[in-house]
Amino acid sequence: MSYLVDYHIHTTFSDGKDTYPAYLDVARKKDLAEIGFTDHITFAPVDWCVDEIDFPVMRENLKNLCNDFSEDVQVRFGLEVDYFPDKEEEIRQVIAYFPVDYVIGSVHFLNDWNFDTDQSLYGKWPNDVLYKQYFERVQLAAKSGLFDVIGHIDLIKKLNCWPETDQTALYEETLKIIKEANTVIELNTSGIDRPCGEFFPNMQILEIASNLGIPVTLGSDAHKPNQVARHFDLAINKLKKAGFTRIVRFRNRQRGEIII
Ligand SMILES: [Zn+2]
Ligand SMILES: [Zn+2]
Repeated sequence: MSYLVDYHIHTTFSDGKDTYPAYLDVARKKDLAEIGFTDHITFAPVDWCVDEIDFPVMRENLKNLCNDFSEDVQVRFGLEVDYFPDKEEEIRQVIAYFPVDYVIGSVHFLNDWNFDTDQSLYGKWPNDVLYKQYFERVQLAAKSGLFDVIGHIDLIKKLNCWPETDQTALYEETLKIIKEANTVIELNTSGIDRPCGEFFPNMQILEIASNLGIPVTLGSDAHKPNQVARHFDLAINKLKKAGFTRIVRFRNRQRGEIII
């Protein structure tokens, strides 16, 4: 699969378990064309994001890797930034500081609740209410224009939070906003190894996105080297089944395409 990219990877700069060379090794063995490192930038008091004190060293180290054309696997400078409606200016500034190829915008919080790591509040409200709140945040993230890619667009299901009723209208509304905002979604293959047991997003969302002509990219959300490009064969099958014929690649926030 020498043409593929893995655009969602975490290292020890945030909550990943290894450093750039270890991931590059696996990417080389799996014959990937490009990998993008996307450590967490989060304006909230959590221990799983990049410390501000490490911003300069991450910037230098990753920039050097991106410029190393002796590597057979090309490295892309990515970030996974948490979207908070009241932090748009801080987010804009941090993105401007890094020489990024692309930025993934993700929603991991509903107000102060980090719903994808903290189980404690599930059951307090109907899941449909959580879906509405979550997807409204995703819509705001897309409308902000800050991001190239919306991360794991149906993350709210991760810990087995399933809606009580059909969510087609909410998915369609959200994807239309993403289309208008000219933003890309990702097929994030990590979900299959989470309690929800399926990719982010589900097949229904992929099909709606494909019908609307929303571009897609591909990421494993690896937190360990052996997770690089996980389940990519299945991912390509699903993408084709949903009607996609290409995935997006990035350089300097400009898009290119890879035929799948
Ligand atoms: Zn994430
Ligand atoms: Zn991630």
